[in-house]
Amino acid sequence: MVALDVQVRCLDCGHQTGYRPGITHCPRCGSEWLQAVYDYPRVARVWRERLPARPFDLWRYHELLPVRHTPPETAQGEGGTPLYPARHLSMMLKLPNIWIKDERQNPTSSFKDRQAAVTIAALKEAGLTDVVVASTGNVAIAYSAYASRAGIKLWAFVSSAVPAEKMREVAIYGTQVIKVTGTYDQTKQVAARFAQERGFYLDRGARSVPTVESMKTLAFEIAEQLGLLHPDARYGPVWMAPDWYIQAVSGGLGPLGVAKGFQELFEMGFIDRMPKLGIIQAAGCDPMVRAWEQDRAEPVDLDSPSTHISTLATGRPGRTYTLLYEYVKRHGGVFLRVTDEEAFRTMHMMAKMEGISMEPAAAVAFAGLIRMAREGLIQPHETVVVNCTGHTMPIESHILGERWAREVPAEAVLQAAPPQEGLLTALTGLDPKRHPKVLIVDDHEPARILFRRVLQSLGEYQILEAENGRQALELARAERPNLIILDLMMPGMDGFQVLERLKEDPETASIPVIVVTAKHLSGQERARIQNLARSLLIKGEFLSDEFFEEIRALLEEETEGR
Ligand SMILES: *Cc1c(COP(=O)(O)O)cnc(C)c1O
Ligand SMILES: [Zn+2]
Repeated sequence: MVALDVQVRCLDCGHQTGYRPGITHCPRCGSEWLQAVYDYPRVARVWRERLPARPFDLWRYHELLPVRHTPPETAQGEGGTPLYPARHLSMMLKLPNIWIKDERQNPTSSFKDRQAAVTIAALKEAGLTDVVVASTGNVAIAYSAYASRAGIKLWAFVSSAVPAEKMREVAIYGTQVIKVTGTYDQTKQVAARFAQERGFYLDRGARSVPTVESMKTLAFEIAEQLGLLHPDARYGPVWMAPDWYIQAVSGGLGPLGVAKGFQELFEMGFIDRMPKLGIIQAAGCDPMVRAWEQDRAEPVDLDSPSTHISTLATGRPGRTYTLLYEYVKRHGGVFLRVTDEEAFRTMHMMAKMEGISMEPAAAVAFAGLIRMAREGLIQPHETVVVNCTGHTMPIESHILGERWAREVPAEAVLQAAPPQEGLLTALTGLDPKRHPKVLIVDDHEPARILFRRVLQSLGEYQILEAENGRQALELARAERPNLIILDLMMPGMDGFQVLERLKEDPETASIPVIVVTAKHLSGQERARIQNLARSLLIKGEFLSDEFFEEIRALLEEETEGR
């Protein structure tokens, strides 16, 4: 047997004792809040020497995990998820350093796979055969996959709000699903009762040592991945903490573990500052945000959460909130709520604009980021990492509506012989000649791509691009677009001059123009534009529904008028 070099320290009385799998209480005071501690100087030495040669997955950090044999037989590629920039979102929010930690790329599509991989491995080492878990969905899915590999029988208690698609996914692994009619907090109580009656191990969320420990690996990976970008990385490994870690929360286990991970990196001398936490809740279930707003260290418990986002429906987060509160007081951060509506809209926007389809719970985090940006809580130089997770199926119909595909009868197309010119086009309504023309004028290529993407996501348009004023005037005359989107700040002929020339020329005078500017305008400049242009838009406000609606309305008006 490999010795496990882990101790646990009681958060209440400070008593420290050796860790053994399955330990649930402090032997001195009976507290359930035990925190794992390690020999950090030793681990720091080992990591400096050996980490670079290890595979990039969660087990690379095994010295700081409470599992003896690593990787365990149950491993299936958990962790080691990519971190990449959210380019379009960054442009829209004018925050250049937004990074997506893509937790969709875990075995069951959520960061709960970290928790399941570590916890189930630890429980298997403890010789357990039956495990009881209460879940808002994703934990049950992840635990089911790993329990199946470990030969452990899982009993998953899920509240009735969990979408049927998720429940079926749990059941397919051979887990016994018990659907509890009631809230998630009641479901937890029912599960605890059952576990006690049967003498089975109950997963106690943030109070179980392996769960918190597993979430640390998110922090370790992020710090290594951001470190790779540092100029000094070419001389050797660099670790870097982001300025912000943003996540949507239910019980708060994720940020709790992530915070501990950064604390350990700090203690080992790998990083020199701690990130701020952006902790986002659904407005219908916001016990942490309510408490934060009243500067209270205990959550304001909610007995009947009312959000459609069942993943986030913990009404009683308990002490996890207190620990997060203390962290945020000390290192900075914010607790913030967003509505279900905002989350659904953000989910659709992220899929259309960024190519990332995420589940509503993850969209809550992005909607929170958008709010934080609007409220000026994030500075442009700050590095932001957002946790992004999968499982979109249950709500696709909800955000897509009915008209998301065009139908084509194969026979009509294939049997018309000889092939009829444009029949397919006619049948699908995809005739490019009928689509409104939009001219995008911007000297900055990424900005043109972003506008192109906005238009593509709105419908069918013929999109023309000009990279300077002269080209813009030529194209406007030759093509007579239905709409011009014009950047104000361009080298050579600037937006003001383009506007004036367009208005002087009778051929182009009536084309509506939306002016876009990143610059702060004087009252005089503003008045000058308002006379000539249809509307004025500040760069960074692209995300607003008003912008989308403005474009749509303008184009409908225009094409009807022709
Ligand atoms: C579990 C989960 C959350 C909430 O995580 P906690 O840290 O446990 O509060 C948020 N988003 C997704 C997608 C989840 O699966
Ligand atoms: Zn104690």
